Amino acid sequence: MQCAVEIQDFNGSRRLRTSEKSPQKPSYTMPKYKLEYIWLDGYTPLASLRSKTQIKEFASFPTLADLPLWGFDGSSTQQAEGKSSDCCLKPVAVYPDITKKDGVLVMCEVLMPDQKTPHPSNSRATIPDDPDTWFGFEQEYFFYKDGAPLGFPKGGFPAPQGPYYTGVGYKNVGSIARKLVEEHIDICLAAGINIEGINAEVAKGQWEFQIFGKGSKKAADEVWLARYVLMRVCEKYGVDVEFHCKPLGKDMDWNGSGMHTNFSTKFMREKGGKKYFEKLMAAFDKYKDEHITVYGPDNHFRLTGLHETQSIDKFSYGVADRGASIRVPHSFVNSEYKGYLEDRRPNSAADPYLVAGRILKTIQSVPTA
Ligand code: ADP
Ligand code: MN
Ligand code: MN
Ligand code: MN
Repeated sequence: MQCAVEIQDFNGSRRLRTSEKSPQKPSYTMPKYKLEYIWLDGYTPLASLRSKTQIKEFASFPTLADLPLWGFDGSSTQQAEGKSSDCCLKPVAVYPDITKKDGVLVMCEVLMPDQKTPHPSNSRATIPDDPDTWFGFEQEYFFYKDGAPLGFPKGGFPAPQGPYYTGVGYKNVGSIARKLVEEHIDICLAAGINIEGINAEVAKGQWEFQIFGKGSKKAADEVWLARYVLMRVCEKYGVDVEFHCKPLGKDMDWNGSGMHTNFSTKFMREKGGKKYFEKLMAAFDKYKDEHITVYGPDNHFRLTGLHETQSIDKFSYGVADRGASIRVPHSFVNSEYKGYLEDRRPNSAADPYLVAGRILKTIQSVPTA
């Protein structure tokens, strides 16, 4: 007798598995999932993404609770000495990966060998937990090929900035970039990563994607995953993603890249008010150096006071002011100082975990009563 067991896939498709071994005891082969564990290494001033894959059987698409802790050699990632090199990977978010059969993207935090204490490089662990804080990150970046932005002529420069921002046509966006960004959107959407949009940016070869999330860690997790997916998509086209905030240098008339960070707490959305807003901005002023410290390396090349930025040593805010540190949307003022604010200082290479953590700590320093 043949025994058949129906197993439900994560994407809802049913598969039939048969076994002829034991007629009494139904037995079936479970799908082997490819668990791609992704984490941040210990490099400074900027952590890089790392990953490795383990294959495990599950009856259906694994939940976070199903996923085991795992280890890696921290001496190869600047996270441990050679003598005692094991670090621990703790899964914190799990997403289906449609680029392969039974693929799983597993975002992880790094723990010490005791499997409890956050590793010093674990910036995610520094974010206060708050399910009602929302972040929206606008991630700008350059595609790079052969040491120059994608579409730059060999050894030279294309026509000056102007037509590239939200541009169309081969002379503005070339023939590869759109394929890359659209493949990126599709993988993110299928995974459930909350990508909200993309656009071509001001410099040739420069693009942006936006990620929004409810919960103080959610959007930052998804920015790291979306970066990972984008870099992986680009591999097969021989293209790299350049996250440096001023890859063409500070003296060139080519835009740098930011990671504008939009944020709101429940209090800001529901109570707000001008008084609270002014106290909040005073706290942002007070902690401006602490903010800049985690807003990405080489930011002094970018925050010059030009190209829609405030200079790095000043703090300012303004309604619809794209030259301010914090831009206050019209909608915020029109609804009695309620809603979200945009911190324009974080740069494209910043760690969204550190950015989210710092913003929330500053907000929490301001009494709401
Ligand atoms: P712009 O380029 O004009 O600065 P974008 O449309 O690129 O604006 O980005 C605006 C961001 O603000 C989006 O990522 C969006 O998700 C985010 N956002 C909208 N509402 C809120 C909110 N209440 N709290 C936090 N972020 C928000
Ligand atoms: Mn934007
Ligand atoms: Mn932009
Ligand atoms: Mn913006």
